[in-house]
Amino acid sequence: MTCGYGSPRTPLPNEVDVAIVGGGIMGLSTAYHLARQSYLRIAVIEASYLAAGASGRNGGGVRMQWSDPDNVELMMESLRICRGLTQELGINTWFRQGGYLFLARTEAQAEQLEANAVMHRSLGAPTRLVSADAARDIVPELDTSGVVVASFNPMDAVVFPWPFLWGYAARATAMGVAVRTHTPVERIEPATATYHLHLASGERLEADTVVMATGAYGHRLNRTLGIELPNRPHRHEILSTAPLKPFFDPLVVDLSTGLYASQSTRGEVVAGVTMGAPDFHARADEIDLSSSLAFLERIGRALTRVFPRLGGVSVLRQWAGPYDFSPDGDPIVGPSPGHPKVIQMCGFTGHGFMMGPAVGRIVARYIATGESHRLLERWSPSRFADGGVRKRREVMIIG
Ligand SMILES: Cc1cc2nc3c(=O)[nH]c(=O)nc-3n(C[C@H](O)[C@H](O)[C@H](O)COP(=O)(O)OP(=O)(O)OC[C@H]3O[C@@H](n4cnc5c(N)ncnc54)[C@H](O)[C@@H]3O)c2cc1C
Repeated sequence: MTCGYGSPRTPLPNEVDVAIVGGGIMGLSTAYHLARQSYLRIAVIEASYLAAGASGRNGGGVRMQWSDPDNVELMMESLRICRGLTQELGINTWFRQGGYLFLARTEAQAEQLEANAVMHRSLGAPTRLVSADAARDIVPELDTSGVVVASFNPMDAVVFPWPFLWGYAARATAMGVAVRTHTPVERIEPATATYHLHLASGERLEADTVVMATGAYGHRLNRTLGIELPNRPHRHEILSTAPLKPFFDPLVVDLSTGLYASQSTRGEVVAGVTMGAPDFHARADEIDLSSSLAFLERIGRALTRVFPRLGGVSVLRQWAGPYDFSPDGDPIVGPSPGHPKVIQMCGFTGHGFMMGPAVGRIVARYIATGESHRLLERWSPSRFADGGVRKRREVMIIG
């Protein structure tokens, strides 16, 4: 029996044109777009349930406020797609466009927001700088002491991540994609012009093209092909509070602490905070998803500094998921060195969910037609071959 959201019992053919490993936002968005524009035989193989990875654990923030013009343009496109997805996929994604409000407390942060706003407007994104007082007009309960300036973009949004996965999976299934869950791919073996995927179930799947949409979890499987990538997992914690009467619309980011907080339609405040930088010497396949008291302490301070009224609120739930860091902050997407038919999609740090709808389309087009995209050049897995890493300055919420 098969089910629209994938099932451990979905029958798999012996051969497909494209095998997608990983049923997170990247794998499922790619499968959906590929099925829409081609007659290729496609299978998605997920080790666990569909929302098991970072795609089921994230804050659902979707913004066009970036420091890099390529990212702004990508996210303008992704937001456009997200806005129509409830209708396109036939499932409520709880897309709510309350904006993002970034708070700067230092001159350097203020300069960055100012430069961003100028660049955003030149690209057609309606970001504007607002004074601390004007920020309080947008979020009346904000404590803005120490805030130099803020930036606001009313088109930025928050979504509920799970329906994205269910919607993409259901639509892909309806178009003939086999979505198999609870089936780890243990090993990939190159054959003549194809690849053999060995599944934990004992089955073997032959594929012309393999998409590694395995997020932070791909190292062990990549190594079976001799592929080593420099991305590293890093635990990122997050919480939701008991529900409160709605009192703010935008997702608020405090650049000094890395705090981000939004209020869901049920009234819960969903928030995370920077805990520390990633360790690029850490083991690539050890992923810590425990919850810590240190996080509760730090977020308690950061959250009540911005929203003093949250001092007495109860925490309903605390959890963690893997951020997937690449050394230069850019994702790692495209053909693998030495294996051009193995397409990587990883290294999305803490913003892969918002990019997934647009990136899945770009990768699907590349597989279906061979048409490249400037981001595929920039994000190429081969860029690390000479050991060189160029860092870029970006508005990121790290660790
Ligand atoms: C706490 C937290 C908050 C975040 N907040 C935001 C946010 O607000 N906005 C935003 O845009 N992003 C956010 N992110 C980042 C975002 O969630 C990720 O960048 C994105 O979900 C990555 O998607 P993915 O499909 O690449 O990986 P995943 O969702 O991790 O999917 C990879 C899948 O591959 C499967 N897999 C791995 N190995 C195998 C194998 N061998 N065989 C079969 N299957 C395999 C895994 O089980 C997993 O389901 C956040 C992340 C975290 C952890």
